[in-house]
Amino acid sequence: MKSSMNSPLCIFCEIITGRHPSYLIYEDAKHMVFLDHRPVFAGHCLVIPKNHVDTFEELPKRAIAPLFGLVQQVLQAVEKGLPAEGAFIAINNKVSQSVSHVHVHIIPRNKGDGLRGFFWPRRSDLSEADMQLICQKIKKHIIELN
Ligand code: AMP
Repeated sequence: MKSSMNSPLCIFCEIITGRHPSYLIYEDAKHMVFLDHRPVFAGHCLVIPKNHVDTFEELPKRAIAPLFGLVQQVLQAVEKGLPAEGAFIAINNKVSQSVSHVHVHIIPRNKGDGLRGFFWPRRSDLSEADMQLICQKIKKHIIELN
């Protein structure tokens, strides 16, 4: 399913309609924020739009600024409330996306929390030519978008 108001097949839509429980942090007409039930660290929040869309690219442009405005507010609440020194803000888009309803992870971070190096081992084997080629491949489509 691509897009609709709510879907009984989507666990986040079930949370929105109250048919599935959540640790609710915040709700307004267009968004919900609740705790991830399997947090990376305590206080791991998910920020979601209430309208069901599967992927980030399907999110209407007009929905992006309000969603990320809320992410910014929740980020500050997480850092102050827990407290936490910082956070990792992430969206799994299609790959590693286990719930097909757009959601932004806010994961509290503290120095020495062990996440560094666990995420994304970095490559250092790309040549100057590789980097130039990759740059061109992406740039071409940015130009098409404009
Ligand atoms: P992702 O794998 O990036 O799609 O993230 C989906 C997240 O949703 C995971 O971190 C899950 O732990 C979380 N999740 C799945 N079902 C629930 C639920 N019923 N309540 C709270 N969090 C959930």
